[in-house]
Amino acid sequence: MAEQFDVVVIGAGPAGYHAAIRAAQLGLKTACIDAALGKDGKPALGGTCLRVGCIPSKALLDSSRQYWNMGHIFGDHGISFKDAKMDVEKMVGRKDAIVKQFTGGIAQLFKANKVAAYYGFGQLQAGNVVKVKQHDGTEVELKGTNVIIAAGSDSIELPFAKFDGETIVDNVGALDFTEVPGRLAVIGAGVIGLELGSVWKRLGAEVTILEALPEFLAAADAEVAKVAAREFKKQGLDIKLGAKVSKTDVTGKGKKKEVVVTYTDGEGEKTLTVDKLLVAVGRRAATKGLLADGTGVQVNERGQIVVDEHCHTGVDGVWAVGDCVRGPMLAHKGFEEGIAVAELIAGLPGHVNFDTIPWVIYTEPELAWVGKTEAQLKAEGIPYKAGSFPFAANGRAVAMIEPAGFVKVLAHAETDRVLGMHLVGANVSELVHEGVLTMEFSGSADDLARICHAHPSLSEVIHDAAMAVSKRAIHKAN
Ligand code: FAD
Ligand code: NAD
Repeated sequence: MAEQFDVVVIGAGPAGYHAAIRAAQLGLKTACIDAALGKDGKPALGGTCLRVGCIPSKALLDSSRQYWNMGHIFGDHGISFKDAKMDVEKMVGRKDAIVKQFTGGIAQLFKANKVAAYYGFGQLQAGNVVKVKQHDGTEVELKGTNVIIAAGSDSIELPFAKFDGETIVDNVGALDFTEVPGRLAVIGAGVIGLELGSVWKRLGAEVTILEALPEFLAAADAEVAKVAAREFKKQGLDIKLGAKVSKTDVTGKGKKKEVVVTYTDGEGEKTLTVDKLLVAVGRRAATKGLLADGTGVQVNERGQIVVDEHCHTGVDGVWAVGDCVRGPMLAHKGFEEGIAVAELIAGLPGHVNFDTIPWVIYTEPELAWVGKTEAQLKAEGIPYKAGSFPFAANGRAVAMIEPAGFVKVLAHAETDRVLGMHLVGANVSELVHEGVLTMEFSGSADDLARICHAHPSLSEVIHDAAMAVSKRAIHKAN
C-alpha cells in the first residue's frame, strides 16, 4: 500500500527542495525523493547546483581568482611575495567541504521542516503514485495528492566526444581535476565554458574555447559581450568563434593521454592537441526513466516536461519545475517556481515573474543582466533611451584596481520605465539586483537616479548610468 502524502516531490535540487520546504511550511504532509550520491558515495541532497554546479564552481572561481590576483594585481598594491604555489588538492578539498556542508544543510532543513526524505530513483506512475527504488535495494510507493517533478538536467554529450570522466569531461570532471592541465580545450563558449575555462586558465592552463556560433555570448547585450571578450583575451583565454568540432581522438596512456580535437573554422579543418577536453554545450532535461506509461504527462522534443505558465502539466495534481521544464536553466528560477507551486497547491497566489530573472556569469569581470537587451527592444519595436557609465570613472572601482566594464540602463522612451539593465565589471553579480528591484516595482530611470547611493561605492555606476538616461550624469560628459 502506498503511503499517502499531500505533496510528493521528485528531485531535491534547488527547485525541488524549495518546493518541499515551502509545502511543509504551509502545513502540507510532504515527501522529497532524490537519487543523487555525493563523492563519498552517500546520498547528497541539493541537486546539480550544490553538488556539481553553482556552489562548487564558485568555490573554485574564488580560489583561482585569489591566485591570479597574486600574480597580476597584488604588485600594483605594493605587495610582493616569493614562490606562490597552488595546491590543487587542497583547493578541491576546500570545494568538497563546502559542498558537504551545504548538501548536509538541506538534509537538516528537511528534518527541521518535517519533510520526509527518500533516497533513490523515483518513477511517476499513473494515478499520482511514485515508485521509489531506494539505494538499499528496497522499493516503496508514495501517493501524492500532488506530485511536483523537479528532476533537473544532465550535461549534453556529443556523439564524437563521449565523456570518459578523465580526459573528456563535463562539469563534474572539470571541477575535480587533480592537477592543472597543461592544455585544456573547451567545446562551448557558454556559461560553464567561460567559468570553468577561467578557473583553469587562472591556475596556469593554456585554455582554448571552441564555439560553434560566429557570435560571442549571443544572449548578452552586444556591448557587454564585446567588453567581456576583450578582457578574456587580455587574460589569455583563446576563444575561437565559428569553430565546429567534428572529431576527437584520445591517444597515449596514463599521464601521457592527450586528446586531438578536429574542428573546422572559416579557414578550413584544423586540429588541436590538449591534455583535457571539457564539453560544455548545454544541458538537457533529466526525464529518462522518470515517467511510466500512462501518466499523461507530456514531454516535448527537447525532453522537457510540458507545463503551463503556472508549472502545471495538465494532469490533475501533477506539476513540474526547474531545469526539467521550459525557461532558463538557473537555480534561482527553480527556487521561485518551486515556491510558487507549493503556494498554488496550498491555495495561495503563487507566481513567478519571468521578466525579472537575473543572469550572472561569474568570470572576471563578471557579467550580469536583467530584462531586455537593446537588440530585443529594437526587434520588438519598443522605443527606448539608454544611459551608460564606465567603472573606470568610479573612484571605488579604480581604488580596487577594477576599472573594466560599464553599466547600461535601458528605459522606455516615453514612460522612462526601466526595461533592462546590463552590467559588466566588478561585483555586478550583486549590483544587478538594483535593476531587478527597480523593474519589479515598475520603477523608472529617474527613480534610480534620485535614489541616494553611498559614496564611494560601485553602485554609484548604476546611479550615474540612470542619470545618463536623461543626459544628466555628473561624472562624465553627456
Ligand atoms: P537539479 O539541480 O539538476 O536537481 C535535480 C535533482 O533531482 C538531482 O539531485 C537529481 O539527482 C534528482 N533526480 C532526477 N531525477 C530523479 C528521479 N527520477 N528520482 C529521484 N531523483 C531524481 N545556476 C545558477 O543560477 N547560478 C550558477 O552560478 C550556476 N552555476 C552552475 C555551474 C555549473 C557547472 C552547472 C552544471 C550548473 C550551474 N547552474 C547555475 C545551473 C543550476 O545548477 C541549475 O539550474 C539548477 O541546479 C537546476 O535545479 P533543479 O532543481 O531544476 O535541478
Ligand atoms: P550554454 O547554453 O550556456 O552554452 C553552450 C555553448 O555551447 C553555446 O554558446 C553554444 O552555442 C555552444 N555549442 C553548442 N553546441 C556546440 C558544438 N557542437 N560545438 C561548439 N559549441 C557548441 O550551456 P552550458 O555552458 O553547458 O551551461 C548549461 C546551463 O547551465 C546554462 O544554460 C546555464 O543556464 C547553466 N549555468 C548557469 C551558470 C550561471 O548562472 N552562472 C553557470 C553555469 C551553468
